[in-house]
Amino acid sequence: MKAISVQCTVQSHRFLTPTVFELTFDTDLPIEFKGGQFVSVIVPGAGPGGRDLRRAYSIASSPEARPFELCVKLVEGGPGTNYLNSLRAGDVFKGMFPYGDFTHQEKPDHGVCFISTGTGIAPFRSIVLSEAFQKNPPTHSTLLLGVREENEVLYDAEMKSLTGKIKNFTWETCVSRPTKDDHGCSFRGRVTDYLRSLSVNYPFTKTDYYLCGGGAMIDEVKKILMDKGVEKTSIHQEVYYKEPK
Ligand SMILES: Cc1cc2nc3c(=O)[nH]c(=O)nc-3n(C[C@H](O)[C@H](O)[C@H](O)COP(=O)(O)OP(=O)(O)OC[C@H]3O[C@@H](n4cnc5c(N)ncnc54)[C@H](O)[C@@H]3O)c2cc1C
Repeated sequence: MKAISVQCTVQSHRFLTPTVFELTFDTDLPIEFKGGQFVSVIVPGAGPGGRDLRRAYSIASSPEARPFELCVKLVEGGPGTNYLNSLRAGDVFKGMFPYGDFTHQEKPDHGVCFISTGTGIAPFRSIVLSEAFQKNPPTHSTLLLGVREENEVLYDAEMKSLTGKIKNFTWETCVSRPTKDDHGCSFRGRVTDYLRSLSVNYPFTKTDYYLCGGGAMIDEVKKILMDKGVEKTSIHQEVYYKEPK
């Protein structure tokens, strides 16, 4: 579907973790999208000389579900996230979508490993909730989420429930700086530590990898995978932001 400009009406706003909020909205025109695609939100008057800005947000909900859902990390002083965080039920914003090709490409006899940090889980949630994925799951699939503290884990109960619903689907939460011993996550360390800890029996070269989050994590994960013999063509990425040097 070609991207179109739509008016979005907010249905709800709530915090999912101390710094990540969920915004749900409906659109004035019908929109179809694939899991992994994003909306370009117009941030009115926030640019130089009072011009509008645009910011990209992956759609976190299933392609079949309405209203649409976003999950957004509130960035201090960031115009896009502060604008979205100011919106409440009934408020209207402008967006253009669907955009992007960060979608799951089915490959026979191949599994998939989705690797995210923070709100980088959004496109993967949309993919694993989609009918296309659930009706025809890959041979094996893993969704990895890395967070600093345990209270930053997103969609835990929902993802745990999918492990019983999607054949050979596993959900792994990696916490790098837990505040408690009983943090409830499946792995202590970063997603990169988790990947390094996988045994030689993991089918590294029979898996496609989708990476989403900060640029530094993505660069490090790519290096680990390539050292394990994974082909570049099996690695797909969506960089949300680059850390300042
Ligand atoms: C295709 C695509 C999809 C995206 N989808 C999402 C999404 O679903 N949810 C989401 O929260 N963000 C998402 N982003 C990031 C988003 O577009 C904005 O860059 C981000 O929300 C910051 O916008 P801002 O205007 O508030 O701050 P900006 O002024 O643009 O950024 C301020 C600083 O914050 C840092 N930063 C930006 N994002 C983050 C973050 N998530 N965590 C930590 N630091 C950050 C950057 O280093 C930047 O220098 C996506 C980006 C792309 C390219």
